[in-house]
Amino acid sequence: MLHTLAVKSIEPVTHNVYRLRFDKPEGFSFKPAQATLLRLDRDGWRDNKHPFTMTSLPDDPCLEFTIKSYPERHGLTEQIARLAPGDRVIIGNAWGAITDSGPGVFIAGGAGVTPFIAILRDRERRGALAGCRLIFSNPREEDIILRDEWEAMKGLDTVFTLTAEDNGKLPNRMIDAAFLEETLENFDDRFYVCGPPKMVEAISNILMEHGVPEDRITVEAA
Ligand SMILES: Cc1cc2nc3c(=O)[nH]c(=O)nc-3n(C[C@H](O)[C@H](O)[C@H](O)COP(=O)(O)OP(=O)(O)OC[C@H]3O[C@@H](n4cnc5c(N)ncnc54)[C@H](O)[C@@H]3O)c2cc1C
Repeated sequence: MLHTLAVKSIEPVTHNVYRLRFDKPEGFSFKPAQATLLRLDRDGWRDNKHPFTMTSLPDDPCLEFTIKSYPERHGLTEQIARLAPGDRVIIGNAWGAITDSGPGVFIAGGAGVTPFIAILRDRERRGALAGCRLIFSNPREEDIILRDEWEAMKGLDTVFTLTAEDNGKLPNRMIDAAFLEETLENFDDRFYVCGPPKMVEAISNILMEHGVPEDRITVEAA
């Protein structure tokens, strides 16, 4: 079933990430971390649909998306950054690979953090963040999505790393085997990994090499 929604608000989250809010349509239900295919309700754009994760919670009256814009690709996300209140988009049903199957280590690269926004907000609301850790990799400090919110979440342990900036404040390292061995006490937790396909594959392999069974690793390539 398709739903046509008018943009209620759009605001920057970082220099290239935008928070879009809509009134939640009647009959649209989803679980935290699920995504939907979104397209613009505009001539020439209705066939160009891409997946985006709902970052609001199912009970919220609004439907929120947190979307990184890639203007250089001249695709949908370039247009999304230019949306204004009243502009319309079309979404389909909710679906997705990542669901909350318990506390654990959430490893994200860039916009791959979006499913964890919903899961960790939901856990915060339920007072269930104990045992949760977010390891979040970005090129530069300015790229970190919602850093203040992560650091304010009581019970959530946060680790940030930068891959294209050495600013003396945050580690300037890739998330590799050595990084995980130094950061984690052990590999006994549940792991969630979401980011660019190569990152997801590399980290999944490291986890399995360290004895994490596949059923304790939840992955999604963003
Ligand atoms: C399940 C799921 C959930 C997601 N949720 C979110 C979310 O909540 N927020 C979010 O920001 N993103 C999310 N994404 C990623 C999001 O779907 C993509 O960023 C989006 O589809 C990009 O659309 P686009 O039209 O701007 O660019 P694309 O369609 O990726 O690019 C347009 C064109 O640019 C070229 N191109 C593609 N990649 C590159 C590249 N790396 N460098 C140069 N040129 C390139 C190609 O020719 C391509 O046809 C999610 C992805 C998945 C799979």
